[in-house]
Amino acid sequence: MADVIQLLPDSVANQIAAGEVVQRPASVVKELMENAIDAGATKVQVILKNAGKGFIQVIDDGKGMSPRDSRMAFERHATSKISSAQDLFNIRTMGFRGEALASIASVAEVELRTRREEDELGTYLFVADSELKNQESISCSRGTNMLVKNLFYTIPARRKFLKSDNTELRNITTEFLRVALATPEVTFTLANNGNEIFNLPASGLRQRIVNAFGKNINSKLLSVNCETGIITINGFICVPQHARKTYGEQYFFVNNRFMKHNFFHKALTEAYSGLISADMIPSYFLYFTVDPSIIDVNIHPTKTEIKFQDESAIFQIILACVKEALGKFNVIPTIDFDTEDKVDFVAPDVPVIPKVPKVSYNPNYNPFNYSTSISKEDSDFEQGERSHGNSGGNSSQRNHDYHRKEQVPANWDALFAGLEDKPEEVQTVIPEMAEKQEDHQGVISFVQMKGRYIVTPVHSGLMFIDQKRAHERILFERYKETLSHQPAGGQKSLFPETLELSAEDFMLVKDILDDLMLLGFELGEFGKNCYAIYSTPPDLSTSRGKEVLLNLIEHYKNTEGSIRDKMRERIALSLAKAAAMDYNTVLDRQEMSDLFDNLFTCQHPNYTADGKTIIHILKNEDVTQWFK
Ligand code: ADP
Ligand code: MG
Repeated sequence: MADVIQLLPDSVANQIAAGEVVQRPASVVKELMENAIDAGATKVQVILKNAGKGFIQVIDDGKGMSPRDSRMAFERHATSKISSAQDLFNIRTMGFRGEALASIASVAEVELRTRREEDELGTYLFVADSELKNQESISCSRGTNMLVKNLFYTIPARRKFLKSDNTELRNITTEFLRVALATPEVTFTLANNGNEIFNLPASGLRQRIVNAFGKNINSKLLSVNCETGIITINGFICVPQHARKTYGEQYFFVNNRFMKHNFFHKALTEAYSGLISADMIPSYFLYFTVDPSIIDVNIHPTKTEIKFQDESAIFQIILACVKEALGKFNVIPTIDFDTEDKVDFVAPDVPVIPKVPKVSYNPNYNPFNYSTSISKEDSDFEQGERSHGNSGGNSSQRNHDYHRKEQVPANWDALFAGLEDKPEEVQTVIPEMAEKQEDHQGVISFVQMKGRYIVTPVHSGLMFIDQKRAHERILFERYKETLSHQPAGGQKSLFPETLELSAEDFMLVKDILDDLMLLGFELGEFGKNCYAIYSTPPDLSTSRGKEVLLNLIEHYKNTEGSIRDKMRERIALSLAKAAAMDYNTVLDRQEMSDLFDNLFTCQHPNYTADGKTIIHILKNEDVTQWFK
């Protein structure tokens, strides 16, 4: 049998390598931007057509290339950045593998225009299919202008896997920001289809962060500076109040290269522990300077993980300097740990029984039985209660439409439906258990506990309701309903607030604008990366529009789904989460009662849409057991 092994042609070898280096337009943007930085550019323009699927152009004013180097640049393992294995331990450039251009040229068409300062004429190259198709001398400005067209035209299967323009663009802005934040001293611009997305002039780090993420972040930044024998750490962390539930503003850089580092991230979460809840993620922009010989960046071409010698020592240093920054700015002392675990029962809101008019409360009222449901307007009792002990403070932020609705579920089944995805080992409250218990005067008591739970006696024991989750569930079902039907008429704002966003968030809002409109938000573009909020959903006061939208964006980020319906559900959930009352919102008796009733008109009162328990009953038997 004849020999069968042969060397792959360059074009095939390059395509295989490209599979690792070039996964999507964002990878090309990253590689070209890094090359521009490595070439000493002071200004880098990124210009896209159709989120890079049309073309990606990166123009820099760096040192440019000679005619020979321009050709060499497209060869595999061709690099000017290292020349021996020893150099691998002293890397100070972004790139060094000499793979990027070769890979890109194997899966796209590339036009290069470049000129060095000392040359009168520059070079034009056209490379496709890993082959040099054309080379000319041209006059052009100093620096390099790379145009990458028809990405993956040689591999239709890969091209088909590219996501929507919006998704690809979001991936690009992620990479763009990583490079732009690594090098604030360089000017960057990013534009897609003629629209400028970022314009980041050369500046200091704080200004770069503000330009990238919006003015709001400025007052949230706490500076971190610390120098030790093995590492120098500079940059900013954000105040605990700025922490979010989704990832987004977590940036580590090592010698000006972006990196992910789960272990060091833990140092951050540890430093913030006690200041933010466990599901919140602090925002940080931390820059490490280390001797390149103590890090190993040579793991994988696209991986952003970097290994360090002595990671546990560095962990301790990060922990100490972040804590110091938090302490220095007096963040820690202002948090009152004492109230955290204290059981502070709000004194029971003893119902005041008005003498005249007489209470017309229906003692037989059963929220599950619609034939006996009453409306707010019918209840004299309500009038008497309203004047009693209101909370002030947050009251304008609450829903005041907790009136009993006519659409109480006609049968018990609704309560059981959709519970398949409930977490294991939790109690499911069945309707009989939830039947309210009146005292001898025919009044049902509600007690608010720890600003979190509504406690009320029910037939089977003592029911605890998580107030925020209950409200979330009520709003979720309402929003979902709205989204599947007709647009909700919003409340017009007399003085429209403006919502200034980062370019990324601005695009995200654009994506979901139609659905926001259905919910009753009316937003108009208002200058760069800014919306004016003309109206808010019916049950959301206009003064909360901005805050709720910001929360909604945070919650919605990184949880993108593909199916439209699911997306609506997600928006409904995000909005419900954002608009639901906060813990520690003091509720009066009537509000608790309304919340209770509204919860039990929901299709699924037991759990929030994301599966968290809303209700728990302390059973009569269990209580009896204590006193045996
Ligand atoms: P690497 O960056 O790992 O060296 P690349 O394939 O990205 O590999 O680039 C190959 C070489 O081409 C670089 O080492 C550099 O000499 C040259 N080069 C690429 N882009 C530019 C640019 N924008 N300006 C000047 N030289 C460049
Ligand atoms: Mg490179």
